[in-house]
Amino acid sequence: MTGESLANGTSLTRRNRGFAPLLRVRSPCAAARLVPTLQCVPELPEVEITTRRLGASLEGIEVESALAPGMVALRSVDPPLSALAGRPIEGIGRIGKMPVVAFGPGGEGEDGRLDLLIHLMSAGRLQVYDKRASLRDRRSRVLIRLADGRELRLREFGTKQRAWAKLLRDGQVQDEEMVATLGPEAWPAPDLETLARIVDQPRHLHPMLRDQRAIAGIGRSWVDEILWEARLSPFKRGSDLEPEEVERLHDALHVLGDALDHYEEAIDERVPDKLPMPLHVHKRQGEPCPRCGTTLAAVHFAEHVTTYCPDEQTGGRVLKDRRLSRLLK
Ligand SMILES: [Zn+2]
Repeated sequence: MTGESLANGTSLTRRNRGFAPLLRVRSPCAAARLVPTLQCVPELPEVEITTRRLGASLEGIEVESALAPGMVALRSVDPPLSALAGRPIEGIGRIGKMPVVAFGPGGEGEDGRLDLLIHLMSAGRLQVYDKRASLRDRRSRVLIRLADGRELRLREFGTKQRAWAKLLRDGQVQDEEMVATLGPEAWPAPDLETLARIVDQPRHLHPMLRDQRAIAGIGRSWVDEILWEARLSPFKRGSDLEPEEVERLHDALHVLGDALDHYEEAIDERVPDKLPMPLHVHKRQGEPCPRCGTTLAAVHFAEHVTTYCPDEQTGGRVLKDRRLSRLLK
């Protein structure tokens, strides 16, 4: 074998190892500006549109029963899932990238409201179905059967069980470590001063903006879009930013709101598993930059790829592929 295949469909020959712009791209979505792939993990705009649609469809509907076929997915024991029976769904919201389903009072044995906090991880999806799942469906993690015959399902693609849910009593969500440690929401954007404080750290912008403790809601897809919009290098350190660059970064957060506007137009009641994300640069290495025409370049890591415009973001420099240079050491 003369090359190796990367998870995202990019192939790489031995001869050009280490030089990101020479990667041959075989993306099936290369021609489209929308990327309908499960490899695109739900981030703030995707989770927000999901919870808006689910909330509109399910508010006021009563729960008949609930079960967790993915035993490891339910990470709480008290109150039990059975406490959901007889309760109405009060609303479905989002904290960072985590959906939260709120249940009103009315169940047996528990008086107060309950919240189901869900972490989709990379391959989890939360959807409503008209019929109940077969218990043999190995993707099912948590099933909430509704009195009108429908079912709210937490499913997960792939072989790994990483998605999880916790059933919590009223007020406990804010105490959960994953919630209590979150930075401010990335959209609507925090004010400029707050963002300036957040990014004033000697860390590369790319991992820092994906760190939910710094700012909540951004992942591997939208970080590329935000940095491209701001014309900033993914490897620039936050504490090295000039005030004018912090302003550009702040302005660039509008791409999250734009994505949400796009989804509001494009998505009807049912959010598809493969949500087409309106991305301009993420995983589009080898294609021309939509703004200046320069060939987009990429840096590959073990589990993700960072795409950027060398002309506008890194002062003409093509960055070394860090994953490969580590292998070749
Ligand atoms: Zn460009």
